[in-house]
Amino acid sequence: MTDVIIENERIKELGPNLSSSSAEVIDLKGRTLMPGLIDCHVHVIAALADLGANGRLPDSLITARALVLMRNMLMRGFTTVRDVGGADHGLIQVTREGVFPTPRVLTSGNALSQTGGHCDFRGRFNSDPVPFSKIPLGALGRICDGEQEIRRAAREELKGGADFIKIMANGGCASPTDPIHFLGFSRQELLAVVEEAGNAGTYVSAHLYTDQAIRRCVECGVHSLEHCNLIERDTAVFAASQGAFAVPTLVTYDKLVSEGAEKGFPAEALAKVDTVRKAGMDSLSVMREAGLTMAYGSDLLGDMQCHQSEEFVIRGRVLPAQEVIASATHNAAKLLRMEGQIGTICPEAYADLIVVNGNPLEDLALLTEQGGHMPIIFQGGQIIKRQELS
Ligand SMILES: [Zn+2]
Repeated sequence: MTDVIIENERIKELGPNLSSSSAEVIDLKGRTLMPGLIDCHVHVIAALADLGANGRLPDSLITARALVLMRNMLMRGFTTVRDVGGADHGLIQVTREGVFPTPRVLTSGNALSQTGGHCDFRGRFNSDPVPFSKIPLGALGRICDGEQEIRRAAREELKGGADFIKIMANGGCASPTDPIHFLGFSRQELLAVVEEAGNAGTYVSAHLYTDQAIRRCVECGVHSLEHCNLIERDTAVFAASQGAFAVPTLVTYDKLVSEGAEKGFPAEALAKVDTVRKAGMDSLSVMREAGLTMAYGSDLLGDMQCHQSEEFVIRGRVLPAQEVIASATHNAAKLLRMEGQIGTICPEAYADLIVVNGNPLEDLALLTEQGGHMPIIFQGGQIIKRQELS
């Protein structure tokens, strides 16, 4: 039995038989206490599964829906999330003011994409110029071409408070004119954006599927490798040797196949999903054997965001439960460069804690069902949810 003393927003002390004269005591009666969960790949502005249509919604509607999406994440036990495309600093400011219940959010601001890349939703027959400013909040990203433009775009996102830079370096499912095998950006552009992020003391995260795209990005210094469905052994070993992280997002492909069409995901985009979905499960073993560190990601869009916690169960079919939980706690904190602050229960860390009925190491499904097995959720020392414990 261990006691945890929380003072203000942080954990003060940890150990057996602690006491404090002023503290309120909560007896967990044998339940599991664990660090709040961390999802390293979300899009809080993705109110709709059709990202092209999402980008045409008014900012007010996107903001309101993002607050609902973020509250639901928190109630599932995700006390911190990393937004990899879309959330602007206004939205981040709202999360910090503490008026609305939301996870702690780190953001890339707009993701960067080349013309015809994964953030170009204009389609074949629209050659309207792309906006360089006043980008709608519902757009996941912005278009930039050439070394000069990508540097400027990265600098603008960093000026706007981005915690890291997100780039689209491979074709994608949700966008209309970029097959999966397309490589996004030239090597020169990749090196330029990695330099810009490095100059600001941070890193680049890249949307990637194919082995070739992953290898090229790691060679250019990209640190956070999103999706990685088609990664092969040698590249995984190379990425691990470079200290890169992988963020698989398998649940989103499952749900796009089972629910995508009815939730408005475009039919032509759906056809691309199967290529990456089938390889996804194998990628977990490939990366594990290569020693490539994995962090938790869900990448769900629109109404499908309710399945955020099911990634635990999907990964648990291939990986030990302890490693799956580490991906959403210890590994995620490392990727977010918040080690010792989040994803852990130790003195000085934020008091981001969840109480679970039962032991998730024995049953990862206890982390699903919208926080239904979590009677208590703390974030930064604040009680977010509290049910009577019997
Ligand atoms: Zn994504």
